[in-house]
Amino acid sequence: MAEVEPLPSGPQEGVEYPLTLYYCGNCTMPLEYCEFYPQYEKCKEWLEQNLPDEFEKMMKLNDGKDDGDDEKKRQKRGGKGMMRAKKKEEVEKKICLSRAPRGKRKSVTVITGLSTFGIDLKVASKFFANKFSCGSSVTGNGDEIVVQGDVKDDLFDILPEKWSEIDEDLIDDLGDQKR
Ligand SMILES: [Zn+2]
Repeated sequence: MAEVEPLPSGPQEGVEYPLTLYYCGNCTMPLEYCEFYPQYEKCKEWLEQNLPDEFEKMMKLNDGKDDGDDEKKRQKRGGKGMMRAKKKEEVEKKICLSRAPRGKRKSVTVITGLSTFGIDLKVASKFFANKFSCGSSVTGNGDEIVVQGDVKDDLFDILPEKWSEIDEDLIDDLGDQKR
């Protein structure tokens, strides 16, 4: 059997080809695509005249074929690689600030939600302690830091300054906690 030189426009990625490729003179597609071409009948005519061997093979194949195989083939050709992974829903990023009374005249500032920004609470607590020269601690009550003193108003400026990912709009002022 004579070798057929592959055409320059030849094999494409992701498509399985037979070792020897024949292109249809009617629809210019590889022979296996002819059956999807609207003028399949003309393809067959061309094949019968130009590649009788291949024509015979194709007719045999199609004879033994049922609709199930056909369906499989179409699916394989059509819907590959277009699936997009759905993005996981992210935890809402929000910081809540509130003031809570401590003792008769003192109050503390409670900061929650820093970890929704991926901020290390221990690091943040240290930062607050330095910044305000006061006590600051991670309470262990979930995502919560308590800073001694009323620094709530300052935090609206300081948080976005220190962590650029924090937008001022994402900081909620919960006001005063009642005791
Ligand atoms: Zn064809």
